Parts: sequence; C-alpha cells; structure tokens
Amino acid sequence: MKEFDLSTHVFFGENSLERLEWCENKRIIIITDAFMEKSGVVDKLKARMDGRGNEIFVFSKTVPDPPIEVIAEGVKCLAECQANVMVALGGGSAIDAAKAVRVMADRMGFGHIEECFAIPTTSGTGSEVTKFSVITDSAKGVKYPLVDDDLQPMVAILDPELVSTVPPAITADTGIDALVHALEAYVSTEATDFTDALAEKATTLLMKFLPLAYKDGNDLLAREKVHNAACLAGMAFNAAGLGICHSIAHQIGAKFHISHGRSNAMVLAEVIRFNADLEAVGKGHRNISARKYQRMAKLIGLPYVNNLVAVNALTRRIEEMKRMFGIPATLKDLDIDPVDVSELRSEMVQNALKDKCTQTNPRPVSEEDIAKILNKITPLV
Ligand code: NAD
Repeated sequence: MKEFDLSTHVFFGENSLERLEWCENKRIIIITDAFMEKSGVVDKLKARMDGRGNEIFVFSKTVPDPPIEVIAEGVKCLAECQANVMVALGGGSAIDAAKAVRVMADRMGFGHIEECFAIPTTSGTGSEVTKFSVITDSAKGVKYPLVDDDLQPMVAILDPELVSTVPPAITADTGIDALVHALEAYVSTEATDFTDALAEKATTLLMKFLPLAYKDGNDLLAREKVHNAACLAGMAFNAAGLGICHSIAHQIGAKFHISHGRSNAMVLAEVIRFNADLEAVGKGHRNISARKYQRMAKLIGLPYVNNLVAVNALTRRIEEMKRMFGIPATLKDLDIDPVDVSELRSEMVQNALKDKCTQTNPRPVSEEDIAKILNKITPLV
C-alpha cells in the first residue's frame, strides 16, 4: 500500500497574507532573518496581525544554512515568550530554522505551537510544505536533513510580492533548487502518479517562467508561477524523496559555503546522465529513469525521439540555463582551491553515501560513482 497526503493548507496569489488576519487572542512568534526585519516585511506582517488581542514577538537571528546554535537560541526565545502561534518568514533557511525550533521546543517541553504558518520569500526549497528541515553542524562541516511529520507547517502562504525583491543570482539559485526537487522526485524510487503530476507541472512552469523571473524580477506573473512551481516541487519531493544530486549538494554547501541551489545546479546534469545510464541503454537495457526523463523532455518541448536524444536534450537545456544564470561549471571557478577539495573528497563521498536522500535515488550508487560526479566539477590534484 502506498499513500499520499497534502496536509499543509496552501493560500496563494495576490493578497494571500490576508489569511494572517484570522489570528485572534494569540501569542505569535515571527521567526525570520535580519534582512526581513530591516526591509520592512516583518512590519507588513505585524500590521496584518496587530490588535484583536494578539501579542507579537520577533526572533530575527536566523542565518543561511541555519546552525544548531541558532536553533537553540530560537528555542530559548520561544520558551521565554510562550507563543502558541508561529510565523516562519523568509527563505528556506529561516523556515527550516523555525520548523526545527517548533519541534525541539515541543519535544523538550519548552513550548507548544498550535498553529504554524510558513511564508516563503524565496521560490526554491518548498520548505513551506515539507516535513524536512536542513540543519548545519558548523563545527563538523555537515548538513543534516531532519525528517519528521511534525516538521510540516500547517499553513503555507505564497504571496508573489514577497519574492519580487529577490536579486537575480538568488532567483536563479533557488529556482534551480526547485527544478532539482521536481526532477529528483520524478525519478525517485518512491515516485507515484500523484508525485509525477506535481513534478511535471512544476518542471514545465519552471522551464518557462524561471528565465523570465531572472531577467525581470518585477514580472509578477513570472514570479507567481515560479513561486507556485517551487511549492508544487516541494509537495512532490515531500512524498517521493530526492536523490544523490541533493546528497552531493549538501556536502558542497556544508564544506565550501556555496548556496544550496547553486551546489545542486553544479551537479544536476551529471546526476541525470548517471541515473539514465545511457551506456546500458545503448546496449538495449531498459532504464525507467531514462524513460521518465524522455517523457519530461517531451512535456517541455525538447527533442525526445528516443531515450538518448531526450536525455542529451534535457541535460543540454540545463547547461544552457546555468550559463544564462551565470552559474559556474566548476568549484575552481568559485575560487575554491582544488587541493582543499582533494583533502575533503573522501569525507564528502562518505557523507553523501550516508545522506538520507541517497536512499531514494533511482540507481544504486557506489563510492566511486559519487567521486566521479564530484570530479566533474573539480579537477583531481
Ligand atoms: P536562504 O533562505 O538561505 O536565503 C538566501 C538569501 O536570500 C539570504 O541572505 C536571505 O536573507 C535572502 N532573501 C530571502 N528572501 C529574500 C527576498 N525576498 N529578497 C531579497 N533577499 C532575500 O536560501 P534558500 O535557498 O531559500 O534556502 C536554503 C536552505 O534551505 C538551505 O539550508 C537548504 O539546505 C534548505 N532546504 C530545505 C528544504 C526543506 O524541505 N526543508 C529543501 C531544500 C533546501
């Protein structure tokens, strides 16, 4: 028996922040980062909830790739203010931090949140609808994806205006992250008809609208479509899981502090080629991933006459997008010393193999396979 559920209630489109006005007589904690507070978005939210007996507290110390220490501080703040409603506001980092604070405070008996709103201000992670939270152990240089049903927010609010301020480079990195979610969920060992439908729609929206949102951040239609696509991709991978593109990206992000989306973008095409196993396909072996990539190529208007043509067209399109977005091909292009990569290579390979996302990769993977993919983005020294 398989199952699929969409337990987060999603409000989307223009004026969706109105949903916050339903809060009455609540103690509300907004968990966010300093940028959101400085840029006035926190005040915008407060204005929606002020009065009606609500008391509002703000914890704005989350940072990209939230470390354990920030979660501990957030738990302390929640314990002090005894909030019963949480508003997680920001990119995936702020939302992940808030989700972890909520669950930890509850498990440790420091506070209980009855209703949790997630309001994304980037279009990428889908964290607003997932049971995942990615936390960083800075001392060890490791990112841990926590997975727990209790991490899932009850309400997600997708207001496209909140993403109109995202600069082009972050639009590109986060948008590619969403694309990776859709494409990894699509070929995952846990993919179903339900998750395929979500992944297909997310991919077609992203292929069309992400370049438009990148070129003109004020194109609100493109922003809205990319925001919705990121959420659909989140729903897809929340049920189907991910694959080794994420397992490897977690290592690159943790060791070299490269944004999550960019780390994914750097290895995506190579991972698709690995999963499609075109050499075996050429010898007549059947490969379900290759066939699914072929179906996706057809849906997004690429050549798809056979598996080989379709997979090549899909990976070429991804490389074109990366070039358009200025995403470099190798770690060296990001001024990372190949010697540093060499020293960390075997640890990164081991951690990628152990990463939870590897469990749902469609093709079994060895140490050597991961090392080969890593070698494509960094020369061996
Ligand atoms: P992010 O949250 O780290 O934000 C990146 C930068 O964008 C930050 O400096 C932030 O202040 C800024 N920013 C956010 N919104 C903005 C706006 N509207 N205008 C201008 N600047 C803005 O980036 P992200 O890609 O959204 O999240 C990445 C994190 O999410 C990583 O830690 C990753 O591992 C994690 N993640 C979580 C899930 C999940 O399901 N929980 C899935 C994928 C990734």
